[in-house]
Amino acid sequence: MANDLIHAYTLNIDGLSVWVQRKRIRHLYLRVRPPHGDVVVSASHRHTDADIQAIIKQRYDWIVQQRRRLAEREQRMPSTPTVHEGAMQWFMGAQYPLVIIPQARRNRIELTSQAMHMHISANADERKCLDLLQGWQHRQAKKQLTALTPGWANRMGVEVAECRVRRMKTLWGSCNPLAQRIWLNVDLIRYSRACFEYVLVHELVHLLERGHNARFYGLMDEFLPDWRQRREQLNGRYAID
Ligand SMILES: [Zn+2]
Repeated sequence: MANDLIHAYTLNIDGLSVWVQRKRIRHLYLRVRPPHGDVVVSASHRHTDADIQAIIKQRYDWIVQQRRRLAEREQRMPSTPTVHEGAMQWFMGAQYPLVIIPQARRNRIELTSQAMHMHISANADERKCLDLLQGWQHRQAKKQLTALTPGWANRMGVEVAECRVRRMKTLWGSCNPLAQRIWLNVDLIRYSRACFEYVLVHELVHLLERGHNARFYGLMDEFLPDWRQRREQLNGRYAID
C-alpha cells in the first residue's frame, strides 16, 4: 500500500532506470509497469542497493521481454487514442479507421461497419476531437453497463445500489460491497463484450465474497466458466480489484 512507502529514488543499473521504493515489507518485488514499461522495485530497508542490482541482472531478460510486450500492446492499442484522420480506433473488440468529417452542425460520432465517423466543427484541434471521442466512449460504456447489470445481478442474487463508468488509471473495475457500488473502467468499451462482462461479473461476485479466495474463484467458475480466457484477452493493462 502507498502509505507504507518510506522513501524512493532511482538507480541506474546497466543503463536501465530502476525506480526503487523503500517500504515496510519483508520481500523484494520487481515489476515492469504499464503502459511504458517502467521498472519498479519495492524493497525493505534490509535489502541493499547491491541486492537490487543483483536481482535486476538476474531478471534482465525477463524485464526486456516484458517491456517489449508492453510496447507491442501500446502500439496495437495506445493508452490514449490518437485521433487524426485514419488512426485506428477500438470499439467493443473491433478496429475502425477514424474518418473526420468537419463542418458538422452537431458534434457526434457515428459507427458504420467500416469506419468511425467523427462529425466535428472545422476548427477543432486534436484535444477537442479526443474530448468528443472520450465522451462518446463514456456514453457507450454506460449503455453497455446498464444493459448487462440487471440480468447478472438477478442471476447472482445480488443487489446493486450504484454502478458507474469511470476513467481509472490503474484498475479495470472496483467494488465497494458495503455501499453495493460498482465502478468499471470506461476503457473496457474498447475491448470485446466478453471482456466487459468478465470485469462486471468479477465485481458483482465481490458482493457475495469480498476477498480473492477459493470461494471467490469458485463463484467465478460457477457464473462465468470461461473467465480465464476472457481475462487473457484483457491483456493485463490494468489490475482488477
Ligand atoms: Zn476483485
